[in-house]
Amino acid sequence: MNAAVPRPAMAPLDLARVRADFPILAEPVRGGRLAYLDNGATTQKPESVLRAMDHYYRHQNANVHRAVHDLAERATTAYEGARDRIARYLGAAREEIVFTRGTTEAINLVAYSYLLPRLKAGDEVLVTGMEHHSNIVPWQLVTAAAGARVVPAPVTDNGELDLDGWRTLLSPRTRLVAVTQVSNTLGTVNPIEEIVREAHARGIPVLVDGAQAIAHLPVNVKALDVDFYACSAHKAYGPTGFGALYARREHLEAMPPWHGGGDMIRTVAFEGSTWNDVPYKFEAGTPDIAGAIGFAAALDYIDALGLPAIAAHEHALLDEATARLSEIPGLRLIGTARNKGGILSFVMDCAHPQDVGTVLDQSGVAVRAGHHCTMPLMKRFGIPATVRASLAVYNGSDDLQQLVRGLHTVRRLFT
Ligand code: PLP
Repeated sequence: MNAAVPRPAMAPLDLARVRADFPILAEPVRGGRLAYLDNGATTQKPESVLRAMDHYYRHQNANVHRAVHDLAERATTAYEGARDRIARYLGAAREEIVFTRGTTEAINLVAYSYLLPRLKAGDEVLVTGMEHHSNIVPWQLVTAAAGARVVPAPVTDNGELDLDGWRTLLSPRTRLVAVTQVSNTLGTVNPIEEIVREAHARGIPVLVDGAQAIAHLPVNVKALDVDFYACSAHKAYGPTGFGALYARREHLEAMPPWHGGGDMIRTVAFEGSTWNDVPYKFEAGTPDIAGAIGFAAALDYIDALGLPAIAAHEHALLDEATARLSEIPGLRLIGTARNKGGILSFVMDCAHPQDVGTVLDQSGVAVRAGHHCTMPLMKRFGIPATVRASLAVYNGSDDLQQLVRGLHTVRRLFT
């Protein structure tokens, strides 16, 4: 391209077209328009994902990896094609993608298969104070079994990871660092590259919880240099109950199976069994084949829109939402990190978050009210709960207007 000719600006998203892709957005709720702002909990599904899963059951359904007939071959091709798609999306090799029921199961797999056999009494797992329970409790379960412990790194008042505090907690006892890439409660985007660099310099492996990241920012596990990366399809426009663990191949090769059953074996005898190759060694039983296909279709959808365009749209909306919420008297935002994704947690001085959520629901606004599976973080901020509005690609200013109108109703009712 001629350097004198300015490059065209990135095309903005066509919001009306994006919305038309999601049939549920036209669903009336409480007799009116739906403003779906609960995307941190789960996202809605585009037509292409619904179609891909429907197509599988109508035209391909059979069990995988036992192909002696046409349908079984189709199912296996679609299922393994999904593994290629997910690997490509994350920048991994296909052998490094283990299918799981989601982020939670992926982290439990690492806890039981990778960490537990290596743990000694006195060892530590370093997490942060903003982790989802899924990135705390599995470590508690395995450390308790070994006489080891989970250590939380501090969070600053604006909801950032206190990196200096985190650094002082890295020690020769640290067996693993586990950290979320994007906080589901605060929206904080953590400095994964820096965390990985510092942990690796001390020979400590790093697991990243990518549940809130993969639909919102480009992720390349090799560039991030992480050891483990966990994610869920349903947070990225895919189906519930499906997800993936990326793990470096050498880790997967060294890890023993976690669940036993069909498909994860090479041979079975009462004298002893042998295991399938990675990643199949970790995939016991008939998998969620439609889930894999739906996840792949969701990633196709994201890539077709383009993550840079999605991120630009969501950031503009986050800025607008932050400004609008800040104007509401008695509303306090929890989590104002400098590097933040589209999540707005807040409390109001006039009403409990549950009441705020209930009033908003009456106005057709779907938000979450509660601890968001981050009880230690609630304790850190001295609050029992927050209201959380979380953004996705199909949200727009009209959703924010509906939210703000609902919040004014809350103020009228409770003051
Ligand atoms: N980690 C984070 C940051 C999350 O937001 C969630 C879900 O809310 C999870 C983990 C758990 O994901 P799943 O329930 O899909 O396993």
